[in-house]
Amino acid sequence: MINPDPVMALSTLAQLDPAVLAQSPHVLVSWWKPVLILAPVVAWAWMVSSVFDKHAARFFLGPEKWNAIHLAFGVVGVGAALLMPLPGIAGFLVGYLILIVLLAADVLLFVGLTNKDERVPEKHHLRLDFSSFAEAKLARSEAKQQATVQLEIKGPSGLLIRAPQKDSPEYEIRAAAEQIFIKSRQARASQVDFAPAGEGTYAASYLIDGVRQAGDAIPTPDALKLIDFWKGSAELDLKDRRRKLTNTVEVGSGAEHTGVKIVTSGSQSGMRLTMTFDPDKAVRFDIDDLGLLGPQLDSVRTLGKQEGGIVLVAAPSDHGRTSTMYALLRMHDAYTENVQTIELEIEDRMEGARQLQFEPKEDGPDYATTVRSVLRRDPDVVGIMELPDVETAKEISKCDKARSRVYVSMKAEGALAAAQLWVKAVGDANGASDGLTGLIAQKLVRRLCENCRVPYQPPPEILKKLGLPADKIKQLHKKGGQVLIRNKPEICPACQGLGYVGQIGVYEVYELDDDMRAAVTKQDWAGLRNALRKTQRPSIQQAALRRAVEGVTSIEEVMRVTAASPSRPSSGKKKVARPAPAQPAAD
Ligand SMILES: [Zn+2]
Repeated sequence: MINPDPVMALSTLAQLDPAVLAQSPHVLVSWWKPVLILAPVVAWAWMVSSVFDKHAARFFLGPEKWNAIHLAFGVVGVGAALLMPLPGIAGFLVGYLILIVLLAADVLLFVGLTNKDERVPEKHHLRLDFSSFAEAKLARSEAKQQATVQLEIKGPSGLLIRAPQKDSPEYEIRAAAEQIFIKSRQARASQVDFAPAGEGTYAASYLIDGVRQAGDAIPTPDALKLIDFWKGSAELDLKDRRRKLTNTVEVGSGAEHTGVKIVTSGSQSGMRLTMTFDPDKAVRFDIDDLGLLGPQLDSVRTLGKQEGGIVLVAAPSDHGRTSTMYALLRMHDAYTENVQTIELEIEDRMEGARQLQFEPKEDGPDYATTVRSVLRRDPDVVGIMELPDVETAKEISKCDKARSRVYVSMKAEGALAAAQLWVKAVGDANGASDGLTGLIAQKLVRRLCENCRVPYQPPPEILKKLGLPADKIKQLHKKGGQVLIRNKPEICPACQGLGYVGQIGVYEVYELDDDMRAAVTKQDWAGLRNALRKTQRPSIQQAALRRAVEGVTSIEEVMRVTAASPSRPSSGKKKVARPAPAQPAAD
C-alpha cells in the first residue's frame, strides 16, 4: 500500500541512519543530495558559460584565464560538497555551504573586477539584477497602501474627519478617495475632474500644466460614492445634486498639507466633481517670475510707477491672467496706497488690500454698479478681476483716470484684440482711448522637462519660416518623455513621460503714447498694429519663440499655444465679440 502521508514518509527517512548511509561506498549519497548539489552548480555553470564568457571575450578580460579561475572555484566547491570528511548530514551541510559560498564568491569576484575594469564601458557594467523582485515588492506594498487610510482630512471648520472602522464599506470609500488625492499629487495635477462619460461610467481627467490628461474610467456607482465622500468632507449639502456648491478642505500627512477646493454641480447627465489643489498658491507669483522678458519687465515696472490710467490685462481662459493681475497689484504698496479689487471669487489674499467679492443678489447691486461705487471713492489702484459686461466697461471708462490706476482683466487673444474689445465694450472710442496707458497680453507655454528634452538641429527652412536667424541657431529642443535607465528606454520619472514640467508666461507689453491712443480713437487698427510693432517689443509668439531658442520650450508647444492667436487686426467689418460672461474658473 502506498502511503501518501508526507509526515510518514519523512519519519521513514529519519529512521535511516545517515552516518551508515554516508559510510557505505555503494550508496554515496541519498537521491536528494545530488539534486541539491546540481541546482546551484547548473545555475552557476550557465552564468559562467553564457554571460561571463561572452563578457570576458568582448572586453578583453582574457576568457582563458577566467575560465580556469571559474573552473577552480567550481571543482573545489563540488569536491567540498562530495568529499567532506565530517560524518553524517552535518558533514554534508558543511560541504554544501562551502560549495555555495565558493560559487557565489566566483560570481561576485567576476562582477566586481569587471565593473572596476576601466576598459569596460559604464553601460556594460554587470549588475546582479534583483529589480524585478523589488518591483514586485513595491507593487505589493502599493496595493496594500491603496486599501488603507493614510491621510489627514480636515473639513472647512478645521475639524479632523475621522477614518471609519476598518473593514467597513465606508473605510474602503475613504481609502479610494485618498487615492484620488495621492495620484493627482504624484502626477503634479493642479486640478482633477470627475464627469459622467456615458454608458454607466465616469471619466477622471487631470489638469497638468494647463493641459487636460485623461485618467481612468470609474463605474458610476463608485464615482458617486467618491463624489459624496468629498462633498460630505467639504460640509456641502449631499441632497443638493443640481446647484453649484463649493468649499475648501485640507488634505495631507505630517507637516505637509494642501488646500483642496471642492466644487460640485449637477446636470441632466449627472453629478460632477472638481478638486483644485492649492488654488491660492497657483496664482501667487512675483512679477519677476511670470516669464516677462527683460525689456517687458522694465515696461511693466514703468507702468506700475505711473499715477492713474487704464491698463488692459488680457489672456484667454486658463492662461495665467489671474496670476498676472495679482502680481501687478502687488507691485503697489498696499499700505501707502489705497489698493482695491473687485472679484467674482477671491483666489488669493493680498495683505493690506481691500478685496471685494461680488455676490449677485436678486435685489442687490449688479457688478457694474458695484464697480462704480468703488471707483467713485477715487482709490489709488483698482483691480477689476473680470469684465463680465459692457456696462462695467462703461463705468470704468468714466472714472477719474488721472487719479486712479485701473487694471482691467479681460479675456482676449492678444494686446491688439484687447484694445479692440475694450473700444467695443465701452461703445465710445473717445472715452475708451482716454487714459488708456498700457496693454499687457499673455499666454502660457509648457516648460520642457530638462531631464528628458531632446536636442536637435533644426532645418534652416523651418527656422526661416519661423523668422529665426538660421545662421545663429544651431540647436533647438523637443519633448522627450523617455530616459535611458540601464540602457533601456523608460518613462522619464521627472515628467511621468509627458515631456513637460510646469509653465511659463509669454507676454506682449506695450506702453501707449499719444499716437497710439489717437489710433485707438480712430479705430485705425492697422495703424495701431504698426505703431506697436515699431516699439520693437516682442509679440506673444516672438516671446514664445525666444523661449524655444533658449531650450525652455519646444517649437511644437509654441505652435500649439500661439496658432489660435490672430495677430492680424480684424477688418472694420469683422464683428468683435462681446466681453465673455464671467468665468469663475481659476485662470
Ligand atoms: Zn522628463
